[in-house]
Amino acid sequence: MPESIPGIDCDVAVIGGGIAGLSAAISAMNEGAEVILLEKAPKLQRGGNSAIADAQIRYPHEADEYCPTRQTKEDFFDAFLRVSRGRANKDLVRVVVDNAADVVDWLTEMGIAWEKGYPNVAGYRRQPVGGGWQLVDTLYKHLERGGVHVAYETAAETLLTSRSGRVVGVRALEPEGYTDIQARGGVVIACGGFEANPEMRVRYLGRHMDGLILRGSRYNTGDGLRMALAIGALPAGQWGDFHSAVLDARSTPFECGVTAIYIFQLGLFIDEDGERFLDEGEDFRDQTYVKFSKAIMAHKSGVAFNVFDNKPRAEDPEAWKRAIRTDEEAFEAPSIRELATRIEVPDDRMERTIDEYNAACQAGEFDPLTLDGLATRGLGVNKTNWARPLDTPPYLAYPVTGGITFTFGGLKSNPKAQVIHSTGRAIPGLYVAGEPMGELYYYNYMGATSVLRGAVFGRIAGREAARQAAT
Ligand SMILES: Cc1cc2nc3c(=O)[nH]c(=O)nc-3n(C[C@H](O)[C@H](O)[C@H](O)COP(=O)(O)OP(=O)(O)OC[C@H]3O[C@@H](n4cnc5c(N)ncnc54)[C@H](O)[C@@H]3O)c2cc1C
Repeated sequence: MPESIPGIDCDVAVIGGGIAGLSAAISAMNEGAEVILLEKAPKLQRGGNSAIADAQIRYPHEADEYCPTRQTKEDFFDAFLRVSRGRANKDLVRVVVDNAADVVDWLTEMGIAWEKGYPNVAGYRRQPVGGGWQLVDTLYKHLERGGVHVAYETAAETLLTSRSGRVVGVRALEPEGYTDIQARGGVVIACGGFEANPEMRVRYLGRHMDGLILRGSRYNTGDGLRMALAIGALPAGQWGDFHSAVLDARSTPFECGVTAIYIFQLGLFIDEDGERFLDEGEDFRDQTYVKFSKAIMAHKSGVAFNVFDNKPRAEDPEAWKRAIRTDEEAFEAPSIRELATRIEVPDDRMERTIDEYNAACQAGEFDPLTLDGLATRGLGVNKTNWARPLDTPPYLAYPVTGGITFTFGGLKSNPKAQVIHSTGRAIPGLYVAGEPMGELYYYNYMGATSVLRGAVFGRIAGREAARQAAT
């Protein structure tokens, strides 16, 4: 163990300054606690994945001009469980759902302004004006005004425990060396998953996962998980899976941000041999983008082409612009055959695939805002919604693949955000919020809920640790 330099005392030490850590720090501060926030990144890169994200937040709401479908708490809860194939921890999901609307009000009170929104079919969500960067910047300013000390370029490394098993602080590496921070109420782990750690990615996600495009922060290297497991915390959730999105395959390999194609369901996925390989219209985009991105990665070379005719772009240029989030240009051509040549896919095969698909399309009403049931018939792989012929030039193609946003595996925790030991008991003084929590996401992801979970459990963790300090 390295020699420690004289440390500092506080009530609550929070590890990580994304939405979860900021929410924890603010909530502890509001309880009157003395708080220290440790952030591994330099000040200019603070905020983790939260700062890089759009930071959309889903919550129960009545139907209005932005969202044609009302979403009750029960709808939200049921959809969350369905997306996880019933495996998400019901108690934790319940906490997220019950606190979602309140979190939006809480953020609004602190000065977050919200985009007006746009018709969204898969459930109500709001996006902060200025996205995640503005969200975290506003919260940092709030903390700073409250006098909370933020230690930048300071990486938490080891949890300090007492003989009774209580977590009493954290050892961290600052630019000058090691320091021990004693925290009377406890420590909140809010420092992301292991998405930026190629060694852990290979260990838990599998061979070749070192090469994934990293969408978010380079600093989320699984430190909180490692520290907690080292003192006996119980791992929970789906350690072998992760969040991804259908990205432009030309995205920069790390911290690429939002380079996703969010309108893939109105086109087709064509592989390197000119074949379709999945049902692009299986469900709303929100319910399919994570699993499709992984299906693309697992298919042949791991890169496919999202192919459109001109209809989606011409019919709703605004929606098209919002949904095509890459800065790279599409490949464009006046015919499918020429498009195939441009993207170096066998032209005969691709032309045949599109001809067969067009012939299998049926008459009916197309409606991108509902599951319109406009399906192909008779194909090996049918498209079950939004299936219209690709017959209107020019034709467009984006090369697409997956990437990693955050990991699903984490720590076992309870609705009070306490971390559970492998004995089954809560570890006194140890809390978790945000990405290092396990048991919320399995196989797939409920859109616009990760920033939400960070805020919900961050608030709870900060409050619980502060109250612990007060006793
Ligand atoms: C491009 C993109 C788009 C997204 N869009 C959305 C969206 O619209 N809606 C949504 O809900 N989710 C979205 N997400 C996911 C979501 O942003 C994150 O999962 C969520 O914000 C994570 O919050 P967090 O506080 O748990 O972690 P983070 O925000 O990643 O914060 C973790 C912090 O911990 C710090 N840290 C790491 N290790 C240490 C250490 N040892 N010591 C001290 N500090 C440490 C990091 O520097 C970082 O600042 C998106 C993510 C990306 C990348």
